[in-house]
Amino acid sequence: MLHDQHNQCPCCDYYSLARRGAHDICPVCYWEDDGTNLDGLNQVSSANHITLFEARQNFNTFGASDQAALSLVASAEQTAGLRREQRATYH
Ligand SMILES: [Zn+2]
Repeated sequence: MLHDQHNQCPCCDYYSLARRGAHDICPVCYWEDDGTNLDGLNQVSSANHITLFEARQNFNTFGASDQAALSLVASAEQTAGLRREQRATYH
């Protein structure tokens, strides 16, 4: 079971990060937090090799920031109760 953290993940919108920009891996979507925010949607993240926009699309489509991370992300059971405030993404 995951617990709320102070920071919202820029990819999955769960409150899953204890800090920002420290290259922590989000346990929910497996995005590596290199500090990219929603205002940098179209920049390719060097840590993640895709744009944040693509990663957000991926999470909404199949539940991980990237296809390769699909087996690594937290289960629905683990994210139950974790706070999420979904933000709209405009390309
Ligand atoms: Zn995430």
